[in-house]
Amino acid sequence: MSLRPLVTAELLAVGSELTTGQTRETDGGDLARELSGLGVEVRRLTALPDELDLVAGALADALGRVDLVITTGGLGPTPDDLTREAIAAVCGETPAEDPELLAWLEALFARRGRTMVPMNRKQAWLIPSARALANGRGTAPGWWIDRPDGRVIVALPGPPREMAAMWRSAALPGLRARGLGGDRAAATLRLTGIGESDAAALIGEELLRAANPDVATYAREDAVDVRVDARAADGRTAAELLSATLGHLGPLLERWTFARGEEGWPEALARRLGERRVAAVEVGLSGALAGLIGGATWLARLEVLSTTQASVGRLAEAAREQASGGQAGRKPAGRKLAGLKLPGGGTIGLAVRIEPSGRDTAVRIGLADEGGTAVSDEIAFLGGTDGRRRAALAACATLWRRLGDPGGAGESEGPAS
Ligand code: ATP
Ligand code: MG
Repeated sequence: MSLRPLVTAELLAVGSELTTGQTRETDGGDLARELSGLGVEVRRLTALPDELDLVAGALADALGRVDLVITTGGLGPTPDDLTREAIAAVCGETPAEDPELLAWLEALFARRGRTMVPMNRKQAWLIPSARALANGRGTAPGWWIDRPDGRVIVALPGPPREMAAMWRSAALPGLRARGLGGDRAAATLRLTGIGESDAAALIGEELLRAANPDVATYAREDAVDVRVDARAADGRTAAELLSATLGHLGPLLERWTFARGEEGWPEALARRLGERRVAAVEVGLSGALAGLIGGATWLARLEVLSTTQASVGRLAEAAREQASGGQAGRKPAGRKLAGLKLPGGGTIGLAVRIEPSGRDTAVRIGLADEGGTAVSDEIAFLGGTDGRRRAALAACATLWRRLGDPGGAGESEGPAS
């Protein structure tokens, strides 16, 4: 058997609950992410209803295009679960009960004190070219099939938890052993304070149109992401190509780059905070800030208020004082300040409050530390949930910028308003 390298893949998600929209298809996306990270090029994600002809047809087509086909779902015991039948048809083989699998299945039912109905025996099926993948979380074993031409079919269960567990414990180790993926390397720069089109203009058309490294911008909820994806080519490794492109993009986008890779605001702020901690208050955001930074290790305290008369400057000062156990010292209200420094050590008070501003959301952010208090205003796009979420992001971005720019240049300062 030829050991064909597994460089390209397609994912088939089987289940009428997916094509009717009763269930969101997540297995495909989750696996695509895994495979892409491993250097496998995912050429297509498909969702299919529980129809034998459609599933068998899609499987045969995919096998004509790529090295690896992974199916999810349709491994249950009921007649509408027919992924096994589809694979058997495409391979031209006949399923038969596997005695070992049957014994395992019977033991599983016995353990739970349940009787196994005849319908369940289907989950003990195998075809001659398939081996079973153990399911530690359910009754449906997966299948691994080596095709004579070196292609591979992997059938995983549909429920995401079962799928993920079998992927990690059985499918992935097997695929790694087979030699998975080409030489690829990727990185993501996460930007704040710049729109996607401005970022794209900075990067330039030449780079954005180039196929390798592939540079692309994505407007995410919490950032504009710039992803660089390199494949080995012309005698240069993927890592070399990636680092050459990052060497150019890194400095170009540095001002706006708050995080890299999978990092979000909690990690990005952790880096700039160092030993310092934050005591925060959100007013009118319905927990949007809590949702964003609630679990952060550097968060000393977080208060969620619906309304209050107090100004964000006062709120930030009070939050800081309370978190520092009264040691922060009292500040005369409304005094002029020479500029907020946020120096090392201690607790920083952060307060954010919103109010509607036409269709958008007016956001007022207060920051307080031993050096003083600063307040800034901005408008977040849209109202309601969108506005609240963007206000929370704005609060993080303001703190991040202030931490990186200890002089506190630019924004308004002085009397807490
Ligand atoms: P089981 O033996 O547990 O039934 P199965 O492989 O037959 O496993 P399905 O019957 O196809 O799985 O799906 C069971 C449930 O798993 C679905 O109702 C759905 O909630 C979830 N599920 C299946 N496929 C997906 C998918 N691609 N993305 C997200 N959820 C899915
Ligand atoms: Mg199903």
